[in-house]
Amino acid sequence: MDTMTKRDYYEVLGVSKSASADEIKKSFRNRARQLHPDNKESGDEAAFKELAEAYEVLSDEQKKAAYDRYGHEGVKGSTRDFDNVDFSNFQGFGFEDIIDALFGGQFGGGFRGGSASRTGPRPGAHLKYDLEIEFLDAVFGVEKKVQVKRLEDCTTCEGSGAAAGSKAVTCATCNGQGQVRQMVNMLFMQSYQIVACPDCHGSGKKIDKPCKDCKGVGQTRKAREFEVKVPAGIDSGTRLRLSQAGDKGANGGGYGDLFVVIYVKEHKQFLRDGQTIHLKQPLSFSQAALGCELMVPTVEGNKPLKVPAGIQNGSQLLMKDLGVPYLSNNGRRGDQVVHVFVETPSKLSAEERKLFEKLAELRGEKLTSEAKDADGKAAGKASEAEPKGKKSDKSDSKSNGKGEKKDHKNKEDENIFEKIVDVFRPKGEHGSD
Ligand SMILES: [Zn+2]
Ligand SMILES: [Zn+2]
Repeated sequence: MDTMTKRDYYEVLGVSKSASADEIKKSFRNRARQLHPDNKESGDEAAFKELAEAYEVLSDEQKKAAYDRYGHEGVKGSTRDFDNVDFSNFQGFGFEDIIDALFGGQFGGGFRGGSASRTGPRPGAHLKYDLEIEFLDAVFGVEKKVQVKRLEDCTTCEGSGAAAGSKAVTCATCNGQGQVRQMVNMLFMQSYQIVACPDCHGSGKKIDKPCKDCKGVGQTRKAREFEVKVPAGIDSGTRLRLSQAGDKGANGGGYGDLFVVIYVKEHKQFLRDGQTIHLKQPLSFSQAALGCELMVPTVEGNKPLKVPAGIQNGSQLLMKDLGVPYLSNNGRRGDQVVHVFVETPSKLSAEERKLFEKLAELRGEKLTSEAKDADGKAAGKASEAEPKGKKSDKSDSKSNGKGEKKDHKNKEDENIFEKIVDVFRPKGEHGSD
């Protein structure tokens, strides 16, 4: 699945693995300035979110270490859900404000944004978890456990950030406001900008003896396990929301949510298209000509299927209600479409050959060209020239007077079948070239 192949975070940030924290930060700022959604010329929301996620990991010592060792797997469930950031919240804010809202002050702060007081409770951040599930689990639903590392109030200091016996005092620099006015030079005028207080990093408090466990932040990341009920009929890309399973907000704010993004693995036999399941079913000449009853694989195990006599290669047979349940209405299901694939026998025993020759004779089908004027020798030769299987000439010049109707009845159907055959091909038994 494409969505599973995330880009390397170092590549996203355009830095080497040995880049210093400063280099990472600098590169992030440069790229973020170009990509952030407020930039009318080069803004790109999707790229910005990718960048923000990469920076979130590489700017955090712990997460960076986990990423360096285990790759994306190592930071699963501990990055915020940037997909869910509503950037319209940031309209009217400058670039620095956006970066500040996303990464400023204490980590995990209210990136739902705005300029609300920094010292009050802030809503917790949403987290994202990519969950890969089996094909059949997506069809029938499944319960899964996911482990996330989310911010919670530090239990040692109960969220105050101060060591036992020590207290948090109001920050003198900002008078407890958490923010200060800073003069900035714009083109021809001077202006003020509100920024996070550099002394207390926006908390409005200063701690003389910080809590050891959380280094004065008041919060730590803890591994938590949540149960996810994945409903029957789910497809890749669907997001399940677990309310209150995200980060705890700073300063007594509530929990954010956890978004579980589903990725469905491919199946060896079944190909899913919405609620429909496609299956390729090989048939022999005789089965196709005579008709038969077969046991064919379905998501509910093997089921009987009647194949009518005279069926053509590429025909589709419908197995009703053996597809994928509709998410919205689990009583309703899609169908399974069986694509018939008539296989030419590649090896014949002497007896089989005789029977085929007899059959050809009965049907008046010529095995040699007119020019060669058939005798026994020529027939022997033809069988040697066969294996590469280029028969386009032959079938065109086949003139048995029976006026075989070659109706490609539905071009579109054929194309779909071709695509499906292509999908099956890589794992396939017919590794022709
Ligand atoms: Zn603490
Ligand atoms: Zn301050």
